[in-house]
Amino acid sequence: METTGVFAQLVGQDRAIEVLTAASAAAKELIDGSGSGTAMTHAWLFVGPPGSGRSVAARAFAQALQCRDGGCGHCQDCHTVKVGTHPDVHVVIPEGLSISVREIREIVRVAAFHPAGGRWQIVIIEDADRLTEGAANALLKAIEEPSAHTVFLLCAPTTHPDDVSVTIRSRCRVLPLRTPPAEAVAAVLIDRDGIDSEAAHWAARAAQGHVGRAKRLATDEVAKQRRAAVLAIPAKLVSMEACLSAADDLVGAAEADAAALADELDAPERESLMQSLGAGGTGKGTGAAPRGSAGAVKELERKQKARATRVQRDALDRALVDLTGFYRDVLLVHAGSDVPLSHADHQQEINQVASAVTPEWLLKSLDAIVAARQSLETNVKPRIALAALTTGLRLPRQ
Ligand SMILES: [Zn+2]
Repeated sequence: METTGVFAQLVGQDRAIEVLTAASAAAKELIDGSGSGTAMTHAWLFVGPPGSGRSVAARAFAQALQCRDGGCGHCQDCHTVKVGTHPDVHVVIPEGLSISVREIREIVRVAAFHPAGGRWQIVIIEDADRLTEGAANALLKAIEEPSAHTVFLLCAPTTHPDDVSVTIRSRCRVLPLRTPPAEAVAAVLIDRDGIDSEAAHWAARAAQGHVGRAKRLATDEVAKQRRAAVLAIPAKLVSMEACLSAADDLVGAAEADAAALADELDAPERESLMQSLGAGGTGKGTGAAPRGSAGAVKELERKQKARATRVQRDALDRALVDLTGFYRDVLLVHAGSDVPLSHADHQQEINQVASAVTPEWLLKSLDAIVAARQSLETNVKPRIALAALTTGLRLPRQ
């Protein structure tokens, strides 16, 4: 079946597209008063592994709901939802490691307004697994008794049942998404982004099914170099010194990402806050703040710090995903499998590590990476988590 309109963005998700198309049609019946709209639900939970396109699916659904033609992809509504300026679509993206109760209370308040466009008031919550307990409770009330025109679209990055509270999950319609096959990802890069076939196929495989990451790898030289640097690590872990220095490099690169983003955003944000507080042209953010503004400035600084932490952890997590793929490739080589490798362009290092280790060692290493990803999520200091990991990945003495 060929998909047209906004759902064409969902790569390799035929089943989800079917469900969302039916729901959009039911929603249209409700708006037009032409049917019962029973297939429509006011709270959805999009779940799937990283890269399965949860937030892309949620946004496409929001487009389909706001569009008069069920998601044509080119009208004003479709466009403004896509670029994030639609007045009736509100997106919560956690900037820190968690979503606060305050943030949710505010969004719940806005969600109860009558939609300006007369259709739906839509709230998209990315990374709903990062809701604090208080935030989850505040949201629960709104989901339990939604106003007739409000739709909540929650996204959570895994299928693990404990990541989103059972009470929230049980009140949502759960829509599972899957990791798209590399072929499907490559096809999108070629058709949608005009990337040449060879680069698209390489990036699709290297990104292990993650569409956004594949696009970055195919188009962003820095991302490409970062990946190469990460994949060069395993074969170098032959001494304690090498392990600690690898951990330092990984954390250093992640810190540089966070610093670059802060350089770009922090000062302008402070400037515009000062202006809105009435300080006028205060120049480079160092001007005297008007009386009574200390709280607002503190709040902005808190948000900026939380964002930097998040950017840094995300960068480390990307590195750990690449490392997982590397050791999985080593395992495939060990087993003499002919399944295509994710990182075939690093075949030499993969062979080198394969010849030095046992399958048991590899399974233990894959577990160690999972453990490191978990400790990063629970606020363990990155340098400590990464040093523990790289020393655990030290190659056995030959
Ligand atoms: Zn449209």
